Amino acid sequence: MDLTATQQDEAFRARARDWLCANRPAEPAPYDGPVSRTYATDWLARCHKGGWSGLAWPEAYGGQGLPPARLMLWYEEYVRARAPSTLDCTFVALNHAGPTLIARGTDAQKAFHLPRILGGRSIWCQGFSEPGAGSDLAALRATGRVEGDELVVNGQKIWSSYADIADYQELLIRTDPGASRHHGLSWVICDMSLPGITVRPIKNIAGVTHFAEVFYDNVRIPLTEVVGDLNDGWSVAMTTLAFERRTAALALQVELSVKVEDLIRLADAPAGSATSARLSDLRAEAAALRAMTWRTALREPDTPFDGSLVRLAFAELAQEIHRAAMDILGPAALADPRWSHDYLESFSETIAGGTAEIQRNIIAERILAMPREPRA
Ligand SMILES: Cc1cc2nc3c(=O)[nH]c(=O)nc-3n(C[C@H](O)[C@H](O)[C@H](O)COP(=O)(O)OP(=O)(O)OC[C@H]3O[C@@H](n4cnc5c(N)ncnc54)[C@H](O)[C@@H]3O)c2cc1C
Repeated sequence: MDLTATQQDEAFRARARDWLCANRPAEPAPYDGPVSRTYATDWLARCHKGGWSGLAWPEAYGGQGLPPARLMLWYEEYVRARAPSTLDCTFVALNHAGPTLIARGTDAQKAFHLPRILGGRSIWCQGFSEPGAGSDLAALRATGRVEGDELVVNGQKIWSSYADIADYQELLIRTDPGASRHHGLSWVICDMSLPGITVRPIKNIAGVTHFAEVFYDNVRIPLTEVVGDLNDGWSVAMTTLAFERRTAALALQVELSVKVEDLIRLADAPAGSATSARLSDLRAEAAALRAMTWRTALREPDTPFDGSLVRLAFAELAQEIHRAAMDILGPAALADPRWSHDYLESFSETIAGGTAEIQRNIIAERILAMPREPRA
């Protein structure tokens, strides 16, 4: 893999740097609620106007059609400029709902939703997990009964990030009552303003409401909102999860290098000390993660399970860096939300998008070809 930057790459990098420097918001992003939505959509709309949204999306769908290496250069400049975290309420739409529609949606679904997503005009959430169906997603029980040209949806989802401020949801439901497990599911676009939907926000350990429970009581969704074929939702969900694990967090992964350098500067540890050694290890781990991130982004053809490797490495390193910040900076870290808030949030990294144990299972079984764990 040749990563030597060409003159055109350098020109692109400089253009990105100049634009970010002139346009990134001065105020930090609010953590939750409608104000966080306004902040994130304003920022995405500004990026879109400047030609900096959907960089890797095909031009036919309003994107810039840039190759993965250019996307990585953008993210490198993005995190260096301390632009708003990409993990905001636009994350689901830009990084996995939109790409899933591009891969599996109908022309009408693409024409309606993709421009709205890129322009920051619609927010999406994901409704996959249920109480009793997280790691074991195929155990999900929410149903969609076909009645004429509609689905009548009943049941409950949980941990649906941004559901309290979202316009649409990636909703995975059981549409064939006679089928079990991975069969008979459908991936449906759910308009969150439909009658019968109740959203109950959940506060996390950091005191913010990133996710919610969602209840469906005879919610009527037109069959035209099914993505992929009716009852073929499992394969569409796997498309979504592949985007979620492989490419959605590229910027966040690169950002950890910046965080480690900030910590090293603040810690000002004497050379040769145990603290200095700990920070050196973190710097090396962040460099390794950055290299893995580039490889994941650039590898052609991609392998479907690469995402689990990089997702696991990211999740565990994020926790280590924030734990080190608490240990090393002490009370100063508590006073600074960039460390204290992010420390509390980092606990969720080894759960969201599939737990660390599940990623290890995937790596063991699918990449290392170790024996599969017993299945029910
Ligand atoms: C911040 C955050 C955001 C999220 N956002 C969303 C969202 O937007 N939409 C959505 O649908 N979901 C979302 N989730 C839910 C997330 O996908 C689930 O929490 C996750 O898949 C784990 O499921 P669970 O919570 O039901 O835990 P369980 O599956 O019950 O797991 C409990 C424990 O058992 C372990 N375990 C389970 N099965 C195995 C196994 N086979 N082998 C080894 N260990 C196992 C797990 O690793 C875990 O430690 C989010 C979660 C978090 C933390």
